[in-house]
Amino acid sequence: MHRIPLLLALLLPTLPVAAQEDPRDIADIIEFRHWAHANPELSNQEFETSRRIAEYLRGLGLEVHTEIAITGVVGILDTGRPGPVVAMRADMDALPVEDRTGLPFASTKTAEYLGNEVPVAHACGHDIHMSVALGTAKRLVAIRDELRGKVMFIFQPAEEGTPPGEEGGAKLMLDEGVFDIARPQAIFALHSQPDLAIGDVGFIGGPAYAASDQFVIRLKGRQAHGALPHLAIDPVVMAAEVIQALQTIRSRNLDPQAAGVVTVGVVNAGQRYNIIPETAELQGTVRTYDGEVQDMIERRMHEILAGITGAHGGEYSMEYKRTAPATVNHFGLTDWAREQLRPALGEEHVKYFPPVMAAEDFAYFANEVPGFYFWLGVTPEGKENSALHTPTMRAEDEAIPVGIEAMTALLTRFLEAPPEL
Ligand SMILES: [Zn+2]
Ligand SMILES: [Zn+2]
Repeated sequence: MHRIPLLLALLLPTLPVAAQEDPRDIADIIEFRHWAHANPELSNQEFETSRRIAEYLRGLGLEVHTEIAITGVVGILDTGRPGPVVAMRADMDALPVEDRTGLPFASTKTAEYLGNEVPVAHACGHDIHMSVALGTAKRLVAIRDELRGKVMFIFQPAEEGTPPGEEGGAKLMLDEGVFDIARPQAIFALHSQPDLAIGDVGFIGGPAYAASDQFVIRLKGRQAHGALPHLAIDPVVMAAEVIQALQTIRSRNLDPQAAGVVTVGVVNAGQRYNIIPETAELQGTVRTYDGEVQDMIERRMHEILAGITGAHGGEYSMEYKRTAPATVNHFGLTDWAREQLRPALGEEHVKYFPPVMAAEDFAYFANEVPGFYFWLGVTPEGKENSALHTPTMRAEDEAIPVGIEAMTALLTRFLEAPPEL
C-alpha cells in the first residue's frame, strides 16, 4: 500500500524529504502573488509574468518549455519512473479594469488596450491560479521520490480572449503542440470564486461554463425622409421586431430545462432624427451548454431574420462566430476528484456549485482529454465580495494554500492510482 505513506507524508507538518526548505513554507509563492498582482499584464502580453514563472520552475528543477502561444509556459515534473501523465492549467492574463481592492499590493499599472491607455488589474484572480500552480509544483518536487509518471504544469496566456486580429489562449497552445510535449490522461484547473469562502471549493459534473458565440446582424432597408415612411423600408422597425422575436427562441423554442441565452448588446442605426436610415446593425452573444441547442439557436435566428426582413421587403446578413466551446467536466473524473478533495479539504468544504453562462477556454483542453474544473473560495468567511471582472473583486492570499492542498491531492492521487475514465 503505497497510498498510506503518501497520504501521511502530505499531512505531516514536516516532510522526510531531501528538500532544501519546507515545501509548505509558501512565503516565496505569496511574494510571487504580490508581484503578479502589482504587475498585471493583458492578454498576449504576459511577457514578464511568463519570464518569472519559467525562472521559478527552472529553479525547482523542472523541464521548462516557453513561448508556447506567445507567452505560454509548460513545466514538466518527470519523476523518471513510468506512470501516468497528468496536467494542471493556470491562466496568466489580467483585465483592463481599475484595481480598487485596497490591497497593499494593488495594481497601479496601465497599458494600451484598443488604442486607449487603460488601468490593468488581476480582476479575475489569475494571480491566485498561477500562485497555486507554482506552489503545487514546489510541493510535488519535494515528494518526487515517492511519485511516478509525469506532471505538466501549463501556464496559459490570453484566457480572457485575444485582442482583435490575434490568436491565443488554450486553442493556440494546442495548435502549437502543447500536448505533443506530453499527452496527459486528465487535466485539472481551478478558478477563484468570490461567492465561496476561503477553505471551500465548489464543483459540478457536466457543463460548468457555456459556449460563447458572437453575432453581427445587418438589416438593410431603403432610406427615406422621416415624414415619408411609405417610401422607406424601415430597418429600425425591423430591428425592433428582430430584437423582440429573438427572445422567443429562449421562451418558445428551447426546452425549459435546456440552458441558453440570446442577448443583443449593441444596436446601431441612423444619424438624424428625421431620416429613416438604410441600415441597422445588431450585435450580441449566444450562450449554450449543448451543441444541438447551439445549432438550433443559430438556425432559428436565420429563420426569424428571413421572416421579418421578408415581410418588410428588406434584406439581412448575419456573421455568426463560435468562440470557446462549453467547458464540460468529465463525469467519471468529477466523481473521482470529489472523493480525493473531501479528505484533503474536509467533507464540508467540498461543495456543489451551479454552472455559469460565462465562457472559459479551458474547454479546448477538456475537449482533448478528460477535464475537471472547479472553483476556489477567495473570500473570508462571512465577508462580502464583488463579482469577478469588477474593480473591487478581492482575493486573499489565504486562498492559495487551500488551492495548493486541493491540486496536490488531485495530482498525487492521480499518479498513484488513476481512475478508469
Ligand atoms: Zn475572467
Ligand atoms: Zn478568469
